[in-house]
Amino acid sequence: MQLIIGILLAILIAYLAYRARSLDRSGAYAAFVVGTVIFGLGGWGWAILLLTFFITSSGLSRAFKDRKREANEKYAKGGQRDAGQVFGNGGIATLFAALHFVFPEATWPWLGFAASLAAVNADTWATELGVLNPTSPRLITDLRKAVEKGTSGGISPVGTLASLAGAGIIGILAALLSPTGSDWSIFLWVTIAGLLGSLFDSLLGATVQAIYYCPACQKETERNPTHSCGTQTTQIRGWTWLDNDWVNFACGTFGVGVVLAYLVLG
Ligand SMILES: [Zn+2]
Repeated sequence: MQLIIGILLAILIAYLAYRARSLDRSGAYAAFVVGTVIFGLGGWGWAILLLTFFITSSGLSRAFKDRKREANEKYAKGGQRDAGQVFGNGGIATLFAALHFVFPEATWPWLGFAASLAAVNADTWATELGVLNPTSPRLITDLRKAVEKGTSGGISPVGTLASLAGAGIIGILAALLSPTGSDWSIFLWVTIAGLLGSLFDSLLGATVQAIYYCPACQKETERNPTHSCGTQTTQIRGWTWLDNDWVNFACGTFGVGVVLAYLVLG
């Protein structure tokens, strides 16, 4: 019964997001898969966490449009999310919902699920709200170095606070909706895991993420093979395979690592 409700809810959400242009066609199919597993095998608490991530990130990507125009030229993809982005952000959460189905009595699948969503939510909030920082961001590997808004690896006070808030909202819900009952240590650890995951994302962006250069605009960008202006970009640093989707995946995985380390050590 829960699986059938899960499938119907997943179809509904994927369809609405596609119609609202939050997802492209491949993204809608991916969201259907992610939604079916998380709603169908997890249940209501799991659905609420996923929807909190999905609705706030779609909403924030629409907010402050004109203040983001410049930064958006740098990001690998536009506002419409595709399958790579959906799996990059939601793939690990999907895995943990499936693990909960296999180990229904265990607490760790819920913690891993929440930590991965806290990390990608923190990263999304930081990206979407960080552009509101009044001054230029600084490079996470060299805080004395100012970089243009939207540069991979750039961090700012507003962005970091947004990251903390994005992790915290998932942390609060994870504590309240925990299958083992409300527990405030869950809030603390999921929030820390989310914040550290999003900082790890910035660290990868500053070091090994594949970064390209548009010769026409004379700007760095994640966009490949062509910039938003249509010009062909050339890679200037990073590992070619490590695109933004894999960086998001690593961000969620790092969050999971933090919360599982807490379980093992704490
Ligand atoms: Zn260009």
